[in-house]
Amino acid sequence: MILPEKRDYYEVLGVKKGCSDDELKKAYRKLAKQYHPDLNPGDKEAEAKFKEVNEAYEVLSDSQKRARYDQFGHAGVDPSYGGAGAGGGYGAGGFGFDMGDIGDIFDSFFGGGSGFGFGGSTRTRNPNAPTRGNNIRASVTLTFIEAAKGCKKTISFQRLEKCQSCNGTGAKAGSQPQTCTECGGTGQVRVQQRTPFGVIQTAKTCSKCGGKGKIIRDPCKDCNGLGRVRHRRTMEVDIPAGIDHGQTFIIPGQGDHGVNGGPAGDIEVTVTVQRDALFERDGFDVYCEVPITFIQAVLGDEITVPTIDGKVKYTMAEGTQSGTRFRLRNKGIPYVNGRGRGDQYVTVVIEVPRNLTAKQKETLREFEKTTSDRNYEKRKGFFEKLKDALRGEEDK
Ligand SMILES: [Zn+2]
Ligand SMILES: [Zn+2]
Repeated sequence: MILPEKRDYYEVLGVKKGCSDDELKKAYRKLAKQYHPDLNPGDKEAEAKFKEVNEAYEVLSDSQKRARYDQFGHAGVDPSYGGAGAGGGYGAGGFGFDMGDIGDIFDSFFGGGSGFGFGGSTRTRNPNAPTRGNNIRASVTLTFIEAAKGCKKTISFQRLEKCQSCNGTGAKAGSQPQTCTECGGTGQVRVQQRTPFGVIQTAKTCSKCGGKGKIIRDPCKDCNGLGRVRHRRTMEVDIPAGIDHGQTFIIPGQGDHGVNGGPAGDIEVTVTVQRDALFERDGFDVYCEVPITFIQAVLGDEITVPTIDGKVKYTMAEGTQSGTRFRLRNKGIPYVNGRGRGDQYVTVVIEVPRNLTAKQKETLREFEKTTSDRNYEKRKGFFEKLKDALRGEEDK
């Protein structure tokens, strides 16, 4: 097992090795406030620091652990460090640090309900409170044109739905779930716990009901007492015009059903767009290539260009070079959920004819004899530069 390198606990708290308990406590308070998750929402680094600070304090504030740490370092207090037997071992599990525990300790330290407190994910939830269903994922594959113009598609997904047999209670028809006598329906029991701050009361999950607050003696057979059943469903959805490969759109309220009357989650649909033979896309602009003959390039012509709305005519000027790109304004992809659309860029590429007959070749040779530098500006310039370059070589 590879463990990340742990920082020295004194260093973590910014105190000296021989510091007093008061200094330790002061340093801890300051840092714990600084990195508290409620003050740094969504900041993973702060959360990691917060855990690190709490872990350091957990050890250093306990005189026995601190002595062990001073002597053996991390191996003295954490069994996963230093291998079996090193430092005498600390006992199975070491300290399993859990944000829930920290929350309880933290609240009792700074005074719970002082505006601090932990977010819903770590604070104990009321098991009977309405809970929103989870979001579920689905995917859909579209052709280039379907994505560009929008379409209707049928998606298929599995979701948890309220069990119809027991109306979501989990108890067999005719019976009701009983409120747990151990915890009085709260799912939590208070226990005395020794902590770095002395003995405090913390809440633990009720072991009798497993935190549910209710006991089902006669579970519903259709949902095994869970109150929800998984169903496969299909649904026709409107795909918004302009959506691109890899993007996700939301169908609100169609995910897993909620619990205790909570709202349903959403469906997140991720889009895959197939490659197209004619079109490529960059943002809301469309790119395509149109092959032309060299006669068309020489004489100019009206060419047919495909767009996502169908074919359009474009008049190409006399003497158009291969690789010339022109723009068709507002022929690109519509902006998703907005007005307007991108452009289309068309590149014309001369296709050199092959498999010519002797007669065709002869005609071309006749034509070639009649041409001069006047007809080939670029070629003329190129050979002049080439001459200059060769002259330079000879001078050396
Ligand atoms: Zn049921
Ligand atoms: Zn209980």
